Amino acid sequence: MSARGAWAVLVAAGSGERFGGKRPKAFANLAGRPLVAESIERLDASPWVESIVVVAPPDWEEPTILLAEELGAGSLRAVVTGGATRTDSVRAGLAEVPAEAAVVVVHDAARPLLPDEVVERVVTALGEGWDAAVPALPLADTVKRAEGEAVTGTVDRTALHGAQTPQAFVADVLRRALARGGDATDCAGLVEAAGGRVRLVDGDRRLLKVTTPADLAHVETLLAAGR
Ligand code: C5P
Repeated sequence: MSARGAWAVLVAAGSGERFGGKRPKAFANLAGRPLVAESIERLDASPWVESIVVVAPPDWEEPTILLAEELGAGSLRAVVTGGATRTDSVRAGLAEVPAEAAVVVVHDAARPLLPDEVVERVVTALGEGWDAAVPALPLADTVKRAEGEAVTGTVDRTALHGAQTPQAFVADVLRRALARGGDATDCAGLVEAAGGRVRLVDGDRRLLKVTTPADLAHVETLLAAGR
């Protein structure tokens, strides 16, 4: 399998309920540009990615196309409308990926600081015979189980990891996993449920997910420090 020439599906169709604001989260202002611009630009510049499909919120398809044009993102192949859940949005994006594509990389627009080393790590892991590769970080906090306010136990965290995106997949494995139906908060969860072999690779602290306006301010600081 060729490690280069992956198709990227960038999911940006969340409404951002926890984030608030008038626009969908992917179009919140990050250092003067929509949040999603950062991931489009980085995926477009990645030597591992040949083609990009962006999954946009309803009514935001046209602004997404214009944004990609402004950014000169020559790898953009399609912008499609997302669905009610992240899984539905991935399914909509994957429908635009041609049957002959071997590798699909799925990334959350909500994680704008995408280091190319991580794209390299997940894509090259597939060359070692895995069905999927997920960047992850060990959990730093102690994990409590609770019912309401009452703690019912402490979970052994030694085997626990926080999963990030970009996640890379053998394209046919992801297609089959999505075709089975079901839902998961990440695509690797669907592949695991289908019995696929999923490998962890080192994640990156910069891949933090923007959930609240405070996260956005944090990302903006990291972005300014990196420029
Ligand atoms: O909501 P959350 O931040 O967990 O979503 C992760 C990513 O999935 C975001 O980039 C969001 O835009 C995307 N998403 C989507 N369609 C949905 C829900 C989430 O594309 N229906």
